[in-house]
Amino acid sequence: MSLFDTPELLRFRQEVRSFLQEHLDAHFVHETRGGLHMEREDMARWQAMLHSQGWGAPHWPVAVGGTGWSELQRYIFEEECAFADAPLGDVHGLFLAGPMLIAEGSDEQKQRYLPRILAGEEFWCQGFSEPNAGSDLASLKTRATLDGDHWIINGQKTWLSGGHHADLMFCLARTDMEAKPQAGLSVFILDMTDPGISLQPILTMDEGHSVNAVFFDNVRVPRQNVIGELNKGWTYAKELLARERVNNAQAPRTKRDILELERMSHELKAADGKPLAETAWVRRKLAALTVDFIALEAAALSVIAEQMQGKEPGPASSYLKIRGSELQQRVSETAMAMLGSAGVVLGQKYGTGLLAPEGRGWAERHFFRRVVTIYAGSNEIQKSIISKVILEM
Ligand SMILES: Cc1cc2nc3c(=O)[nH]c(=O)nc-3n(C[C@H](O)[C@H](O)[C@H](O)COP(=O)(O)OP(=O)(O)OC[C@H]3O[C@@H](n4cnc5c(N)ncnc54)[C@H](O)[C@@H]3O)c2cc1C
Repeated sequence: MSLFDTPELLRFRQEVRSFLQEHLDAHFVHETRGGLHMEREDMARWQAMLHSQGWGAPHWPVAVGGTGWSELQRYIFEEECAFADAPLGDVHGLFLAGPMLIAEGSDEQKQRYLPRILAGEEFWCQGFSEPNAGSDLASLKTRATLDGDHWIINGQKTWLSGGHHADLMFCLARTDMEAKPQAGLSVFILDMTDPGISLQPILTMDEGHSVNAVFFDNVRVPRQNVIGELNKGWTYAKELLARERVNNAQAPRTKRDILELERMSHELKAADGKPLAETAWVRRKLAALTVDFIALEAAALSVIAEQMQGKEPGPASSYLKIRGSELQQRVSETAMAMLGSAGVVLGQKYGTGLLAPEGRGWAERHFFRRVVTIYAGSNEIQKSIISKVILEM
């Protein structure tokens, strides 16, 4: 019997399924399955629906709007959302800014920002990376200098996901120029409409616009917009990146994709006219993906269980990130190989009859997933963390 097969959890799964059947409309499914980047109004509408059900932030503490679900319930919820092709939701507010504010924010900041994240009224972006500070984040050059009751921020950030529909940014900047690189950083809350902030789109090879460059020219930020303690930004950033890596493992979405590949293998034909499911290379690939998925899921569940007991994920997030991201790439590579020429059409062409429905969104996912081994700390950097912190080498 599976861990998930108790009467209570089966009832819970049915409750989630019924909610999704009632609320998830065809537009959300179309965008999600199509591998498209969500528009702000779609993210807001989806988040508002979850919030009105009391399910806006299952992983937050109950006192600030969480559901109080066990880790298994939370996993079931994510699995059902993945199987139904529900939107991924607002990663930066719900999974990054929210938890950082809950852990380090002042009471005033919590009251001001958390309810609007929950309700889908405000969106955040993450201003960490710079053109010469990605893996080596501590070498970042954006600086903040104090002027009376304000910090003045100057510099540049890059690869700002969702910056074009964000209201707010959590931004890492240097506040102590004399200290060691890691010791002189602080996290600021920036209003994206502040004078001196300018944004430039960066188009990616999936033909989508999800990332941006941003420039700061004497941006004035009130003193109370520092999150937590001054010059503790490096510690907060490390904790935030560990949470981001756990989220990036995306086990339920990968399970949904592997089941989709299994289904496609019976519908798509090899050159000899037989279903792909009967060819050795497809069977081998699907078997290897399934076995590796089971290992990923077990690791993800154990980290989620620790998080639900209030522990930070720490270095375990590094192996989840490596395994989860590699698996996501292998899944879409397998899909592209199975689809052949039907897989290479980008954009919404599947709706025009140019592409078989099986091809929906795979090219978008395949191209965009080049990034999953890079962002939230590249996989090479995660291997260094594992060798230092877990293996003590
Ligand atoms: C689509 C996309 C979205 C992103 N979204 C955001 C965002 O919203 N906010 C944000 O702040 N950042 C974001 N990032 C930035 C991302 O976190 C960085 O790209 C990442 O940290 C790598 O930094 P880099 O691009 O400067 O590459 P580099 O650090 O220059 O690395 C280049 C290569 O060298 C390797 N390398 C570097 N140093 C080492 C080392 N010490 N040992 C071994 N190998 C090494 C890396 O693994 C990589 O393969 C995003 C990036 C992309 C592409």
